Formats: sequence, structure tokens, C-alpha cells
Amino acid sequence: MPFIAMPQYYEEPDVGYRVYRLHFNENLFLPEEYYRELQLPLESWEIRYYTQPNNISLAKKIETYYSLPEGTVTITAGADDGLRASIQLLNFAVEKKLVVLEPTYSMARLLSEQLGVRYEQAQFTQDLRIDVDDIVRRGRGGGVYVCSPNNPTGHQAKELEELAAKLDGVLIYDAAYAEFAGRWRPSLFEYGNVIEARTFSKAWGLAGLRVGYLVAHKRLSDALKALSYPHPISSASAKIVERALELETYVRSSVEAMREVKGIVAGRIRLEKYVGEANFITLKVEDADTIERELMRRGFAVRALGNKPLCRSCIRFTIAPLEIMEKFLAALNEALDRKV
Ligand code: PMP
Repeated sequence: MPFIAMPQYYEEPDVGYRVYRLHFNENLFLPEEYYRELQLPLESWEIRYYTQPNNISLAKKIETYYSLPEGTVTITAGADDGLRASIQLLNFAVEKKLVVLEPTYSMARLLSEQLGVRYEQAQFTQDLRIDVDDIVRRGRGGGVYVCSPNNPTGHQAKELEELAAKLDGVLIYDAAYAEFAGRWRPSLFEYGNVIEARTFSKAWGLAGLRVGYLVAHKRLSDALKALSYPHPISSASAKIVERALELETYVRSSVEAMREVKGIVAGRIRLEKYVGEANFITLKVEDADTIERELMRRGFAVRALGNKPLCRSCIRFTIAPLEIMEKFLAALNEALDRKV
């Protein structure tokens, strides 16, 4: 089809499940008991019929759970689908553009390109701050994307509220890792121009279900619902997520356990690194691709991040329970020494 140019797609390795998966920031601290308690049987009607439009009953459950105003939650198929709807909304803005604070999650750029929204690269400063006035100027009439805690630096953007207050445009706030930083209840949406993207894939440990949600003021939320599919997630996913909300204590303890191990691991690595508030650490290494390969040979999948601002050659790995991290640190040392 010569009239179709190949869209760029999100490159991700299919490493399978027989290696230590330290490349996707899944929550590796939740016990089997949690997953057993989530496994509920489905009634035939739940399979035969469509879910309610926009999975509204799950949206309402989340609103009640976090005491959010009615109509503020939109269910999405993971945060990725939430980002898709948020960026697509910019096609209805005065300026069809998205200013993206880099280095960050590459889907922000890819989705903009795929959805016909102009991508404009901006950057955190060397000390990971946001030049608010500059971003406010550039984002006027369009959108700004900020991820906090940010992937891959893990830092929390301290200027988010100031940016939300000053921006005459939509702030797409990717809060995929917020729970790891102790921010359980969405709140930034209260600014009216903010779309807060949340997910059950990370701290809640439910990545395979593909459930996320957007939180925004009612008017913005209605626009997002208009851009979402009529039935974004399956009844099975919705049912399990509802159950997970009753099991939050498992999730909270897993987050605490992860934070403790992260501190220990960070203390054992002498390389320059980003530690931050999420469930991963990003290391600056000389040749990220080689280290990634060497670690893979030793049974550990990590993510090499090449050529991003402030992250010219980095590897990012997910924090796992200490016994796995002990093995990982040994493999990392070998890989760094190129002991093949
Ligand atoms: N945002 C960020 C910053 C992420 O790292 C990820 C996971 N790769 C996502 C969004 C998407 O998560 P999901 O679609 O599984 O909710």
C-alpha cells in the first residue's frame, strides 16, 4: 500500500515469563494469596451481555472509593488507552499540539504522532525541574504532558500544581506510578484543566487485566467519555478490579516492602542513577544495549533506554523482592565487568 506510511510502533521485547521480568515495572511484591482472592467466578449473564456503557458502574465504584465527585472518572483499557483519549481530545483544542516534558514515557510522543497532534519536545532541567513559565507559554491553547513520578527518572514534579494553576491549556498528568509515592487518591483534577491518568497495572498488580481510568472535572470527563469506546474493558476485568479495591491492604504492604528493598538496592549500586519514588531504578551506564544483552543472558530482562535527554545511555530495572535483587546485583556486576 504505497499510500500508507508505516506508523512507528512502541517497541517492546517479548521476553516471555521464564526470566526475571524487571523491564515493565509490574508490582513484583504482591503475594499469591492476593491473586487467589481476586479469582471470582463469572455468571453467564456477565458474559452474555455487554457491560454498561463506558463501564459506568466501575467508574462509580472508583468515585465512591476515593470520594471523588460524581462523573469525574472515565474507565479506560489501561492508562495507555487513557493517554490515547486525552491526546485525541487535543484535536478539539485551539492548538492541536502536545508539549512533552522529556525524558519520559515514549507513548506520549508516539500517540501524538499517531493521532495527528503536533508533538513538541520540552525538557526537565538537569536538576529535574520544570521551567513553568516557559511551559505555560508553549502549552497555551493546547496540551502539556507530565509524568510524575516520572518514567524513567522516578522523580516527582514539584511544580505540577503551579503548572496546572497557570496553564491555559490541558495538563495531561500521567500518574501511573502515583501510589508508589503515597498518592493514592487522585486530586490534581480539581484544577479543572487537568486530566489525571491512573492505572491498575502498577501498584495494584493487575497489568494483565488492562484497566485504567482518567480523572477530570465533569465537563472534561464527558468529553473523554465521548472519545472512549462504548465498552472499554471486559466484565471479567471490571469484576476483578472491584474486588481488588476491597483488598487494598495487600497493595499498601507490597508498596512498603518495595520501598524498603529499593533503598537497600540503591545503597549497593555505586553508578550514577535515578532512584525516585516509583518501583524502578534507572542507571547511567556506558553501553546500555550491551548491558541489557548481558543481563538477558543471565536471565534478567531490563530496559535499555537509548538516546533520551538526560538519559543518553541508561538501563531501567524494576525492584523485585530482595532475594531476586541479590541475584540481580551479582549479574549486574558481572555484566558491567563484561565477564562473559
Ligand atoms: N504511563 C506510564 C508512565 C507507564 O510507564 C505505563 C506502563 N508502561 C503506562 C502509562 C501504561 O500502563 P497501562 O496501559 O498498563 O495502564
